Amino acid sequence: MRRKIVAGNWKMNGSKDLVNSLVGQVRSGLASLDNGVEAVIIPPALFVGDVVRQAGDQIAVGVQNIACWDSGAYTGEISAGMAKDSGCDYSLVGHSERRQLFGETDDEVTVKVVKALASGLDAIICVGETLDQREAGKAEDVVSAQVRKAVADVGGGQWQQVVVAYEPVWAIGTGKTATAEDAQAMHGTIRGVLKSLGAPAEEISLLYGGSVKPDNAVALFAQPDIDGGLIGGASLSAEDFMSICRAM
Ligand code: PGA
Repeated sequence: MRRKIVAGNWKMNGSKDLVNSLVGQVRSGLASLDNGVEAVIIPPALFVGDVVRQAGDQIAVGVQNIACWDSGAYTGEISAGMAKDSGCDYSLVGHSERRQLFGETDDEVTVKVVKALASGLDAIICVGETLDQREAGKAEDVVSAQVRKAVADVGGGQWQQVVVAYEPVWAIGTGKTATAEDAQAMHGTIRGVLKSLGAPAEEISLLYGGSVKPDNAVALFAQPDIDGGLIGGASLSAEDFMSICRAM
């Protein structure tokens, strides 16, 4: 059985006040929900400790980015081991904003996946095509190549720690969502790529991300290869985040 995951990526948003108000609400919302969903909160790294302290057993916590190194003279960076030590269970890797705004390369994504898994974090590997790539009919090729490269050094039991999030770049923060059918088609492609690599593809959770809201989550999550969501804007509201968890 694949894990059903709803992960909230706060990006560079939020505050201690938001942690204090939102985490408790999500926690009590989850207490009365028995659809098997695993909720993950991925706040800015400075707030990880606060979220961990308030999360209890019901909410998993993640970081938005990790370094390519374990420790050393890398001012401003945070290692996978530090994230694990601080109580994180997950790390995003290769979010399109990291790739586009901070020049993160496919090679760095490969290394970060290795670092996450070796430190005991589950990696939520983000892939997705731009609008130009989709309009040029290259979406499947781009996404397949990103997946192959990201998991190039994953093997054996480590597949249990891998989650892939398909986030079309043109759908992130724009209010435009891929149709449930288009999202399903790409998820099917991603599962096929994982299978071709010898991974236990049927056991790997595939999330959809990009303007997921309470009103479109039901249709997306009803698709056979969509096992949950990576939620940006809507994860900053406890009410919306819980509605999306309930849609699972
Ligand atoms: P969004 O962001 O839900 O605000 O579109 C999703 C993401 O970038 O993870």
